Amino acid sequence: MNMHVRNLGNAFIFLGLYGTTLFAENAPDAVDIHLSAARNAAGFDFPGTLARLCVAPEPVPNTVRDVAPASALARDAWFAEPAKVFDNLYFVGSKIHSSWALTTTEGIILIDTLFTYNSEEEIVGGLKKLGLDPAKVKYVIITHAHSDHVGGAKMMQDRYGSRIVMGGPDWDSIEKSVYGYPLGKPKRDIVAIDGQKVTLGDTAVTIITTPGHTPGTLSMLFTLKDNGKPINVAYSGGTAFNFPSTVPNFDIYISSQSKMRDAAASSNATILMSNHTEFDSAYPKVRMLALRKPGEPHPFDLGKEAVARYFTVTRECAQAARTKLMQSAK
Ligand SMILES: [Zn+2]
Repeated sequence: MNMHVRNLGNAFIFLGLYGTTLFAENAPDAVDIHLSAARNAAGFDFPGTLARLCVAPEPVPNTVRDVAPASALARDAWFAEPAKVFDNLYFVGSKIHSSWALTTTEGIILIDTLFTYNSEEEIVGGLKKLGLDPAKVKYVIITHAHSDHVGGAKMMQDRYGSRIVMGGPDWDSIEKSVYGYPLGKPKRDIVAIDGQKVTLGDTAVTIITTPGHTPGTLSMLFTLKDNGKPINVAYSGGTAFNFPSTVPNFDIYISSQSKMRDAAASSNATILMSNHTEFDSAYPKVRMLALRKPGEPHPFDLGKEAVARYFTVTRECAQAARTKLMQSAK
């Protein structure tokens, strides 16, 4: 009897604290509520993010991901011309993945490095085409250690002595990997910590750790100049749900998205960048720049409110996937 009453008491306390969420997540239409919240937030700004995260994310088995890098696509499928995009930011990415060169008074900070098979042509070749010297890349920030972003890190380290900045858990995953680096691994270098500033000359990139996509995923904040006018960027370092599909993993992902939303808001970021062109439409936007007339807004400059909506898309799609997982576990 005593135990029964106590359990009942706990149940009431539990419902009192969590009742709303609990009932909402159990409701048959809970998934749809999250999906439509995501759809509303995406609007016309983030259709690729919505499509990838909300429409058909496949559940991922609960095993450690250690796979060989994807084999090279035909060059036509990925090759993109490099371009100057801001006074101090150059696109050296592919049609599918972004790599950015942030120029400073003391050299270049490179953000992400594509695959091993295309980093030489896009990054080294692209920098040279733009009149920039790849040997001036002092720091390379890798958002996470998947083969489509870390592929050129070893080349930059070995050839130019660039310092490589990455999250600790992702350095660990490189060291443990058996299949991921058939052509050799970058050597552990700078382990990024939350709030750290990677400073070069007149420019600083603030690291925000956002575990979720991988345990060591890094996002960042920095300032660009558009015809001399400063504009703040929130760079999201990991987006898709290709981590093992568990409720705790989704919780980690969701809390990182909230963290980055808040960091973006407090830094007045009006640009949202990502490392896959499908999430921020970087490839078409870089091409659209050619049509920009003097005085027109920059195609990347979406405004603060849109940047906040991006993080609503990622959070609501993650909530939908998490809810599905909980419902299917019943
Ligand atoms: Zn990834």
